[in-house]
Amino acid sequence: MDISLVVPIYNEELLINSLLDETTSSLNKISEDFEIICVDDGSRDSSLEKILAYRKKDSRVKVVILSRNFGHQAAYTAGLSYAKGNFIGMMDGDLQDPPALFSKMYDMLQTKNFDVVFGHREARKEKFMKRMLILLFHKIFSRLSNINAPADVGNFSMMTRGALKAFLSLQEKNRYLPGLRYFIGFRQGFVEYKRSDREIGEAKMNFTKLFKLALDAIFSFSKIPIRLCWIIGLIGILFSIGGSAVVLYKKMTGDAISGWTSVLTSMYFLGSVQLFFLGIIGEYIHRIFVETQNRPIFIVREFVD
Ligand code: UDP
Ligand code: MG
Repeated sequence: MDISLVVPIYNEELLINSLLDETTSSLNKISEDFEIICVDDGSRDSSLEKILAYRKKDSRVKVVILSRNFGHQAAYTAGLSYAKGNFIGMMDGDLQDPPALFSKMYDMLQTKNFDVVFGHREARKEKFMKRMLILLFHKIFSRLSNINAPADVGNFSMMTRGALKAFLSLQEKNRYLPGLRYFIGFRQGFVEYKRSDREIGEAKMNFTKLFKLALDAIFSFSKIPIRLCWIIGLIGILFSIGGSAVVLYKKMTGDAISGWTSVLTSMYFLGSVQLFFLGIIGEYIHRIFVETQNRPIFIVREFVD
């Protein structure tokens, strides 16, 4: 098998036919020997039926059916674990990323000796608010983590079998795939492209899901939040020692201390700082908890090969 393409699908019934038409024709230009692994991430519409109907025409379309909705990072992971190709592509199922670019990625893997090639979005066409939030996330993420990949990258990529093996060996549960993909190393290159907005259907990654993904990314790739915690704590302690010295000095020199205000405001301030950072510690503890539970990342109901 030359190429495997993994596509997560969650309630995309309106898109399935054009998606599979476009991807098969793009892949046909590279090689006839490919498979498209659709991962049905617990769709509640007719996505699965549409894929299975398409498969009757072209048996290179395969389906991993998950037992429920596990989220799109888990869906990718599921599909990747079934991929048999020497070159493995990843692409969202909403045609925001152009499948025609796979031939360029394939070329770079072959001729330039890269092991991973990912799409770098030089422009986006999503709604203003979403674009701004994504930009903010990428800025914060690249500052806080030691992941130095270009900022605006996502799942759209292609890698060799060897890179995939390393990629799949990372078994953590809170998964941020672009971060993990960078983590494995190897020789990585990228192609520039413009990310269009989805033409059909609504984004299935709603604000809550994207927010959770951003938190997974930051907390699993950065120690800075927890480091901030003790640094600010230390500064607070130094200040309070200084403050107490002043108060004591005033008391000894007989200067009356006036009012509760200062006492109360500093209490409130310290209280809230403590609460905030307790929350951050909680984030880490929650993640430790999830990792130790050691539940599978996804559960497969059926694989239609
Ligand atoms: N998706 C999925 N499971 C989910 C949410 C989304 O498999 O729980 C799929 C979805 O069908 C699409 C891809 O993941 O193919 C990206 O989703 P979306 O376009 O909503 O994300 P965004 O463009 O906002 O990152
Ligand atoms: Mg999308």
